Amino acid sequence: MKLAVASPTGLCFGVRRAIGQLERALAEYGGVCALGSPIHNPQEVARLAEMGLDVAGDVGGVPDGAVAFVRAHGVPSAELECLRAKCRVVVDGTCPFVRTAQKRAESLAREGYVVVVFGDPSHPEVKGILGCMGREALVVSGAGEIDSGRRFGRVGILSQTTQNEASLAEVVSKFVFLADEIKVYNTICRATIERQESIKNLAAEVDGVVVIGGRNSANTRKLVEISESLGAPTLWVEHAGEMDWGWAGVRQTIGVAAGGSTPDWLINELTEKLKRL
Ligand code: SF4
Repeated sequence: MKLAVASPTGLCFGVRRAIGQLERALAEYGGVCALGSPIHNPQEVARLAEMGLDVAGDVGGVPDGAVAFVRAHGVPSAELECLRAKCRVVVDGTCPFVRTAQKRAESLAREGYVVVVFGDPSHPEVKGILGCMGREALVVSGAGEIDSGRRFGRVGILSQTTQNEASLAEVVSKFVFLADEIKVYNTICRATIERQESIKNLAAEVDGVVVIGGRNSANTRKLVEISESLGAPTLWVEHAGEMDWGWAGVRQTIGVAAGGSTPDWLINELTEKLKRL
């Protein structure tokens, strides 16, 4: 059997960086309270919990005097200030690309644009971007949501980092007909797009694809959908223990791809077991 691993795959730059910051804080302080789950992977969260990680659902749940951790998605500026006021130490793991999107939104609002954020309004990253602007914004998750009967003066558009460029272009095109002036910041991060491209290439080359990643990870689900849409027999596992070895044993070539929140140790565990097979 031949084994191929998608490239790039697994942790993106921002999540890798944030988890590194968190590990260093855990080693230094023993206990750290993260605001929201630091990574969409139950096995990795369990590993970090053994090192002393606790997770709070909101700022009120972070104990006074704690060492707090902000995940890669970022948080609204008011929440960051609140954490700084009540906590001993705040480790800010906000991805620099997310921080750029937050700054773009701030500057558009300051310049008087009606700010349009292309993204999922319930996603923590979008909530963080909105919370850094200090005023209302319009959030659209697709061009179809934009009211064609409304007229705008100056519109400033930016995107949630994990959206795709073709859909952002559709949103921008729609505003061409509705606004007097448009300023667009393409704040989409290539990490997600590159991982989606790499699984397309992989699925075309192998007899079966194993996607490894948390069931709560939206980008892992997307990889599974892409692989299936290309007709490749696809297996989704959270860890090597879930692997169907009978399924693997009848294939000549197997491809492995991992969601953007799957740590290296889980990928390595799976590929090592596949190599032994
Ligand atoms: S997907 Fe991109 S923006 Fe989001 S955390 Fe990863 S590197 Fe940062």
